[in-house]
Amino acid sequence: MSRRQIQPISYYNNGILQGNRVILSQAITLVESQKQAHQELAAELVNGLLPHAGKSMRIGITGVPGAGKSSLIETLGMHAISAGKKVAVLAIDPSSAQTKGSILGDKTRMESLANHSNAFIRPSAAGSQLGGVAQKTRESMLLCEAAGYNLILIETVGVGQSEVAVSQMVDFFLLVLITGAGDELQGIKRGVMEMADLIAINKADGQNLPLAKQQAIELNRALSLFPKRTSGYKPHAIPVSAYEALAIDVLWAEFEAFFSKYSEQILTHRKAQNVSWMHQSIEQMLIQNFYNHNAVKQQLAAYEKEIEEGNLSSYQAALKLIQLFGQ
Ligand code: GDP
Repeated sequence: MSRRQIQPISYYNNGILQGNRVILSQAITLVESQKQAHQELAAELVNGLLPHAGKSMRIGITGVPGAGKSSLIETLGMHAISAGKKVAVLAIDPSSAQTKGSILGDKTRMESLANHSNAFIRPSAAGSQLGGVAQKTRESMLLCEAAGYNLILIETVGVGQSEVAVSQMVDFFLLVLITGAGDELQGIKRGVMEMADLIAINKADGQNLPLAKQQAIELNRALSLFPKRTSGYKPHAIPVSAYEALAIDVLWAEFEAFFSKYSEQILTHRKAQNVSWMHQSIEQMLIQNFYNHNAVKQQLAAYEKEIEEGNLSSYQAALKLIQLFGQ
């Protein structure tokens, strides 16, 4: 994007509304750009396209690396396409700045989906701050919706805070576990189990099948002990196999049932999510502006030194910097 001339907003707007994948991709690059002019254009673009967004099933998918997320997205995505859906796959991976996109970077396990005209796959935006990466993914999701994608799958690696960020932008959260693996290996933190609407016990093929069935019984018992959802929905676990496409139809039926039965609750939930996103955006903008503020930049290092030497309290320093920022 940097070396290419940016286009007028109507170019992106019209291209997206026509479902043009190249232009959608260019617009997402704009959303992900660190340049202020790009960010302003992107914000205006997203805002203008809002009336065309929102008509999708937003599903988050998490699980440790190796759980089979990519394989499952490929099988599930192709199933959804055969049911008439247009599928967009996005990722949140705040570590991607270092690893250069560790998830979705390897598209070989999503070959059919990656080559299908009704699918759009976009690896994670780079960035070191989860809040920033999450915000870009969320805006990219809105652009995908405006481009006509009505199933949005947002993948994240189940090893950090990113599940929380994903859960704040989706309607439904799928946790992928590995048949037979212990809690340690699965990286399951209690909070993640509670966040999950559905647990897919993957690799339930061959000799694994009886084990996966037993695991489902145990997990369902554990899930039944969690407090009830206000909507009445009961999270549960099912054995699946991405390889053998076992129970992929069951998984799909679960999604469809959820989205038709709880459509009103989903709308209410999205409104609350939108308000919460505004607050998160404000926080991020304030932090960014604060550290870019000239007077703050000039004083910061000196105050840090004074704090280290015990001549200034952290609170007092913060107060002074905030005062400088406000002037
Ligand atoms: P991700 O890191 O969570 O995206 O996992 P991948 O989709 O890359 O899969 C990790 C490994 O598990 C790969 O070697 C896959 O071939 C394997 N795998 C994925 N799904 C299945 C499955 O349903 N059954 C079996 N037996 N292996 C699977």
